[in-house]
Amino acid sequence: MTSNDSSWGGRRRRACGALLLLLACVAAAAVQASAPAAVAPQARGVWRFADDGVVFDNRQEGARLGGVRRAGDGRYGVAVTPETQPINPSPWYGFRVAAQRPRTVEIALDYGAFRHRYRPWLRRAGEPGWRAAGGDEFALGDDGVARLTLALDDRAVEVFAQQPIGIGEVERWSAALAARVGGQVETIGRSVQGRPLQALAFGEPAAPDLVLVLGRQHPPEITGMRALLAFVDALAGDDARARDFRARHRVLVLPLLNPDGVAEGHWRGNANGADLNRDWGPFREPETRAAAAAIAAQLDGGARRLAFAVDFHSTWYDILYTVTEDPSRAPGGLLRGWMDDLQTRFPERIRERPGPAGASAVFKNWAFRAYGAPVATYEVGDATGEAETAELARFAAERLMARLAAQGTTP
Ligand SMILES: [Zn+2]
Repeated sequence: MTSNDSSWGGRRRRACGALLLLLACVAAAAVQASAPAAVAPQARGVWRFADDGVVFDNRQEGARLGGVRRAGDGRYGVAVTPETQPINPSPWYGFRVAAQRPRTVEIALDYGAFRHRYRPWLRRAGEPGWRAAGGDEFALGDDGVARLTLALDDRAVEVFAQQPIGIGEVERWSAALAARVGGQVETIGRSVQGRPLQALAFGEPAAPDLVLVLGRQHPPEITGMRALLAFVDALAGDDARARDFRARHRVLVLPLLNPDGVAEGHWRGNANGADLNRDWGPFREPETRAAAAAIAAQLDGGARRLAFAVDFHSTWYDILYTVTEDPSRAPGGLLRGWMDDLQTRFPERIRERPGPAGASAVFKNWAFRAYGAPVATYEVGDATGEAETAELARFAAERLMARLAAQGTTP
C-alpha cells in the first residue's frame, strides 16, 4: 500500500479526513478486527502535482491505484497493486486524471512483478460512454512497459482496465428484469464489508427443475459479466421458447457474488483477500456461505432438481470447463448436446476442457459433487468484443432452453 511506500509521492489528501469517512474507516477496522485475514482497504485519495497542474484520484467505485510517482514534466508512473499476494495475475487498475490547462501527459502503468494484461478503457467527463484507448493513446513497449499518452484538460478522464460494470448497474438490471417477467430480487446475505448479496429468481415457482447462474466471483472479469447479462436476458426473453422455458423451470441468478472486491478494484478476492471460487467446500467466506444456502433453499431438500448450472468468468480466451465424470457429457446427455451445439455454431471459438471434480473447492466441481448437476465454467476472453460476447451467450441460452425442452422434466 502507498502508506508504507514513501517513494510514491504527490500531495495526497487521505479520504478518511472527513468525519463520515473516518467513521467508515473505523467500521472497516472493526470488521478487520473480527476477521484477522482481512486485507487493508485501498487508500482512497487525491494525488496533486501542482507544478504540472495535474490531479489523479481513485475515489470512485471499482478504482484501484496504489500510488502516483512523478517521473518528469507531465510524466508519471502509477502503481498497479493487488489486494494480497500470491494472487492470480489479473492486474486491475482504475483511476481518474485531469489537468487544469490543456496538456499532454504520459502515464506508465507500473505492475511491479506482474505483466500487463488489460488494455485500458477511457471515459471523459461529459462524454456519453467508454471507449478503448486508441493506438495513439496506448502502447505496450518491447520492454513490457504499458504507457498511456493522454491529451488532458479540466474534464477528468477515467482510465480503467476494462469498461466497468458496477454494482448499481447490475442491481438496476436485476430489478428491471424481475419487473419484466414477474421475478423476485432478494438479499440472500451480506458480504464481509456488509454489502447486500442479491439473488434474482424467476420462472415457475412450483417447477421441479432449477437452472442456476452464477457470476462475478472475480472482480476484473467484466467480459464474463457481460456474457451472464446476455445469457440471462435470453432466458427472460419474450419469445415463445423462453416463455415455455420459464413455465417449466425455476431460475436462480447470483449475478455478482463479490461486491466488495468489485468496489475495491480487487484483482481476485473478497474483502478478506479470499478467492471465492476456491471456497465451495470450506465455506469460510460469507459470500459463498450465503450463495450455498440460497441454492439449497431453492432445491428444497431434494424436492427440486438442479437441472443445469453455469458460472461466468473471464480469461485470455473463450473456453468452457466441464467435469470429466459428469454423465451428461456422454452422447445423448444434456451437456454433450449443448456443447455440440456451441461447437457446431462457433467451431473455431469454443473449446471444452473437462477436468475431474476431485475434491476441489471450485464452484463447478462442488455443484457436481453436491447435486450431480450438469455444470460448466463459462470463460470469456478478456478482449472478446461486446457484440460477439452477447451473440454467443444468447445462443448458449437458446440452445440450453431447446435441449432442456427436448429432455422434458423426467429425472
Ligand atoms: Zn474467474
